[in-house]
Amino acid sequence: MFPPEPGAGRPAPPLHSVRPGGAARGRGLSAPITVTWEVTNRCNLRCVHCLSGSGPEISGAAELSLDEARGVVDQLAAARVFQIHFGGGEPFVYPGFMELLRHARRRGFCCLCISSNGTLLDATRIAALERLGGVYLQVSLDGATEATCDALRGPGAFRRAVAALERLRGREVVRTVNFVYTAANAHELDAVHALAARVGATLRVTRLKPSGRGRAAYDRLRPSPAQLAALHGWLQGRPDVLTGDTFFHLAPLGGRDLGGFGFCGAARLTCLLTPTGDVFPCAFTQIPAFRAGNLRSASFQAIWDEAPVFNEVFRGEPAGACVSCSAYEGCGGGCPAVKEALTGRLDVPDPDCVLPLCAPEAAGAAS
Ligand code: SF4
Ligand code: SF4
Repeated sequence: MFPPEPGAGRPAPPLHSVRPGGAARGRGLSAPITVTWEVTNRCNLRCVHCLSGSGPEISGAAELSLDEARGVVDQLAAARVFQIHFGGGEPFVYPGFMELLRHARRRGFCCLCISSNGTLLDATRIAALERLGGVYLQVSLDGATEATCDALRGPGAFRRAVAALERLRGREVVRTVNFVYTAANAHELDAVHALAARVGATLRVTRLKPSGRGRAAYDRLRPSPAQLAALHGWLQGRPDVLTGDTFFHLAPLGGRDLGGFGFCGAARLTCLLTPTGDVFPCAFTQIPAFRAGNLRSASFQAIWDEAPVFNEVFRGEPAGACVSCSAYEGCGGGCPAVKEALTGRLDVPDPDCVLPLCAPEAAGAAS
């Protein structure tokens, strides 16, 4: 059973008010702008770098039921969350996923973001998404060729995802091709950019992180410093390519702003819901120490407001070597998820800190 709606009995807070005494970069907002929700960890694929360790072997027995999931949507609406980003696993494997989307629409969520592997997007589903309206679909494609993509995502993944993107051409569904940049596919950046353009999608490049199965695959797939520098240079001339908020640790290399907020928004602008109702700072920080609570025993608003790991760890004062770095304003010290996974600490520079790649005078100024 779910607790009463978090807003019941008290006046509604102003939309995304900044907490007293804090700014968005500090203590966080009264509600996240985006909640990422892994509705299932079941998936018809088994990608080698899956951030959530999802796959066909995962049981859905403990997942939130559709009724429970509708209740979560109600809570997010009452908290005045701006948008929900549905993912998984493969969200279209979750029974009742379309009904969950319709419920979110009924509760006033105008933009429905969905991350999908694309392989289940047949004509019927695409028509249903089009009827729903306001759908922003991210289709994962980790290569521009079958050989490269399927080596990461499994046999048939490339062909079926591209077929879905072809099917989506000309339809009223905003879509991006979501490309995780790795050592294994860095050479296909230009080609995947062209492929996305051919199917009428925007390319979105994201950073590989050592979470889920990505942790075991990280050493093999981690881009080299030279590949990170090449990516940074490549992005400079391509403002049409989206990066979300994943490459702000490259900011010390200079050039144009790569978009997004430019700092880690975990527990400040965003958080993650798991299929079983656990709440974490973000999708890449799913370790027991960072578990903020569970929606079967506490309200979303209470967890967002009161979870010690949110307030003391992710909204705490920054500490460590990065704080005195002159590149800190743009870099923010990098990604806590990568730091924790690779070093077990948060008060250290991002393991992919690019200062050593900067021109000597810039690196000197930043040290
Ligand atoms: S030392 Fe820290 S703040 Fe400075 S560039 Fe490296 S990761 Fe960013
Ligand atoms: S911990 Fe890393 S992946 Fe998670 S929101 Fe922060 S920067 Fe992004």
